[in-house]
Amino acid sequence: MKSWSEILGHRRVLDVLSRAVASDRLHHAYLFTGPPGVGKATVANALATVLNCDARPDGQFAPDCTECSACRRIAIRQHPDVLFVEPEPPSRIVKIDQIRDVQKASMSTPYEGRYRVVLIDNAHIMSEAAANALLKTLEEPPDRTILILVTDGPHLLLDTIISRCQRIRFGSIDEAVVADALADLVAEDVDPDLLSIAAGYGEGSLGRSISMLESGMLEDRRDLLERILSLPAESTVQWLELGDELGEKTELLERRIDVLTVFFRDVMLFKRAESRRVVNADLIDLVEAQAQRFSVDAVLALLEALMSARRRLQHNVNPTLIAEDLLDRLRRPSTRALAPPA
Ligand SMILES: [Zn+2]
Repeated sequence: MKSWSEILGHRRVLDVLSRAVASDRLHHAYLFTGPPGVGKATVANALATVLNCDARPDGQFAPDCTECSACRRIAIRQHPDVLFVEPEPPSRIVKIDQIRDVQKASMSTPYEGRYRVVLIDNAHIMSEAAANALLKTLEEPPDRTILILVTDGPHLLLDTIISRCQRIRFGSIDEAVVADALADLVAEDVDPDLLSIAAGYGEGSLGRSISMLESGMLEDRRDLLERILSLPAESTVQWLELGDELGEKTELLERRIDVLTVFFRDVMLFKRAESRRVVNADLIDLVEAQAQRFSVDAVLALLEALMSARRRLQHNVNPTLIAEDLLDRLRRPSTRALAPPA
């Protein structure tokens, strides 16, 4: 469990919230929005913790405590005044019963904490009935209760919910900060060069950087790219076999699309003479070779195709079809228009 002062990045957000805590002028509902994996839920947890920390005298702020009884119980989700709501199996959406539980709890004053804090993670994944019940709660906010809605898909929330919350926007974290944090988090035998590459792949998201490192995909980048990029255009059978292989596992294909996306973004940077910003610094020989092969327009068309492939994958389009379509573009670089979205 991280204390408030150990949170990475997000200085502006933390300033706003710590001033609100210290002056006891909190909004009754916050909406934390921003890219996945940047630490929104971590900050929400830390806010619930500093609010109810036993070590904090009123009107003050104890950003380092993780040890008092309240802090420890919040960390293991055993504090009676801090409620966690998140999508649950089997339906994997927040259901009306979960919001009713919150409403019931909010009818009494907090048991021991200063505030009752309700954390709703992935708040956009909520049934219609649950969203309407939540809206009622926001319209008549219970005393000394603070709701924190966390989401990376705010466009899927009801406008009426958004407008009743104080919106806190989270940006990406600086990649150098992510690389430093990764060094503390991963095993010592991880190649230090891979850390900054993982940070580049994560685009300011610590969560994404960690999952990229753990997938082993970074070590396999050169192998994957060399196999695709060295295959002669006329070897039709081999291209088809490669398509079958890449499309076999959706999750792996997703990661490989990430690899190709960052790689071809690097190709674009190289073509624009900005090679110092290249993420795959260790693959600069491959980047340079493709920069000669692809025109700027062809790289742009390919990046667009990669983004569309990712979207189609999320909409359950057959992964082999997606892989074959992408390989076709890599086999013969061109600027032709995309297939209509599925
Ligand atoms: Zn404490």
